[in-house]
Amino acid sequence: MGNEGLVPRPKNKFLRVKCSSCGNEQVIFSAATTKVKCLVCNHELADTGASKIKLKTKVLENYG
Ligand SMILES: [Zn+2]
Repeated sequence: MGNEGLVPRPKNKFLRVKCSSCGNEQVIFSAATTKVKCLVCNHELADTGASKIKLKTKVLENYG
């Protein structure tokens, strides 16, 4: 028995960040392949890196 067959958990993480421009909080994916922008003011929250994003704003929570 056991739990084989379950989808393996990705190493990627979700981060809750706060926009440094307007203060909006949103959850972003740490392995996003495109730039992440604030949904409210369009301020750039993170840029893409080799394997994970480069944050440009404050992280409030890390959902490891
Ligand atoms: Zn914003």
